[in-house]
Amino acid sequence: MLPDAAYAELIGRSREDALVAACASLLEWDQETYMPPGAVDARGDQLAFLAGQLHDRASAPRIGELLAVLEGSSLLADAESASAVNVREIRRGYERQSRIPRALAEDLARTTARAQQEWAGARADNDFARFRPWLARIVALKRDEAACVGFVDSPYDALLDDYEPGARAADVARLYDAIRAELVPLIDAIIGASRQPSVEVLHRGYAIDRQQAFARSMAEAVGFDFAQGRLDLSVHPFCTRIGPGDVRLTTRYREDDLEEGLFGVLHEVGHGLYEQGLDPAHDGTPMGEAVSLGVHESQSRFWENRIGRSRAFWGFATGHARVVFAPLLDDVSPDAFHFAINHVARTPIRVRADEVTYNLHTLIRFELEVALITGALDVADVPEAWNDGYRRHLGLTPATDRDGCLQDSHWSAGLIGYFPTYTLGDVYSAQLLDAAGRDLGDLDAQIAAGEFAPLLDWLRGHVHRQGQRYTPAALVEHATGSPPDHGPLIAGLRRKYTALYDL
Ligand code: ZN
Repeated sequence: MLPDAAYAELIGRSREDALVAACASLLEWDQETYMPPGAVDARGDQLAFLAGQLHDRASAPRIGELLAVLEGSSLLADAESASAVNVREIRRGYERQSRIPRALAEDLARTTARAQQEWAGARADNDFARFRPWLARIVALKRDEAACVGFVDSPYDALLDDYEPGARAADVARLYDAIRAELVPLIDAIIGASRQPSVEVLHRGYAIDRQQAFARSMAEAVGFDFAQGRLDLSVHPFCTRIGPGDVRLTTRYREDDLEEGLFGVLHEVGHGLYEQGLDPAHDGTPMGEAVSLGVHESQSRFWENRIGRSRAFWGFATGHARVVFAPLLDDVSPDAFHFAINHVARTPIRVRADEVTYNLHTLIRFELEVALITGALDVADVPEAWNDGYRRHLGLTPATDRDGCLQDSHWSAGLIGYFPTYTLGDVYSAQLLDAAGRDLGDLDAQIAAGEFAPLLDWLRGHVHRQGQRYTPAALVEHATGSPPDHGPLIAGLRRKYTALYDL
């Protein structure tokens, strides 16, 4: 068989896999938004069936035959060409999928579909005992998955690699150590500062329909295309791409809290802009897909924090907010609003945490996940270990499991190994902002004028359109000139909060 023919067949299969995966994504989106509760078992069967189909397709011996024809051929001579990237990444996926038994893939899909509903019920009732057997089942399945995939140092590496190719638990632990050493004294200084913001402005009672209108207008302003996307409500905000021209965001709003809905939307918009910015010519192949969850979170946390919590952004957005919420914000200056949305507090809830304490929340989850997957921690002891983590790293004890170990949906969805990607994304986002600023001139002036197109174009060129051409670390280095480095994140936080709080 000639390499050209083998490549055409391989890409044809990859594009068909993407069609099956898109069907599963749509079913999952529906499950989180409009599906009636009575459908949960049938939906689990549907998703398990598709997971089995995808597993069979991704581990088919035919893929191994096609890869064998291609590897070593002149088609792959340029390692950064689309053909070389696609073959390299299809090989990576094939190696992983062929090691995971079909029954395990189906079991994970069926179990997590049901577990998400059990988690939601347990969280509502503050009843960890109800969720415990489901979590125990998921941890056992993920440990099986790690054992099947294989690892050198820690079974956690096998799970982390699925979200952040090349990342290792030991490196993540070192990153957290370094960040924690910088953040803890900064948090102490901010919380101890005599100058503090008034946060009353965030809690004046903002009608949900106006919050929706404002969030949508901000999403449009920064470049999210609603002709190719949607924004709906869900218990836990997320973003999913169903296929070309169909990127869906969800969020939730609270009348007594202006921050949660708005910054939730800006976060998901960052994910959505990445998905809308992928190269359509490479749709259904690795060159047309996001490279990792860390890079994905770099885009969401970029728009949520680096831009959304900047003074420049509120120079632009305050006027719009005043119109939408009139007359509630008539007495509020951009400076006051900017200070209010950058309040810092030790709180038990990750999704409401400020950007300075946030990475301590993900650190706590990372430690627990490693302990669960290595077997050092029993699921029955999770509530106690959770509270212990909050005492050690944030100096507080959650009042309930609802505000403690039941707050996140990730584990019920089988997403163990995901939390560190938020912190990696934060690190990358600060590097990207610095690099974009060097290339684009006065970024603050552009943002304050509502001119987001140059910045979005820069991200499209340096990140979105690159697909999986580079590993995450290499992508960051190509885009910014430096390998992943937490220095710019810490320096940026220090600069901003020193000025705001007169440190
Ligand atoms: Zn995210």
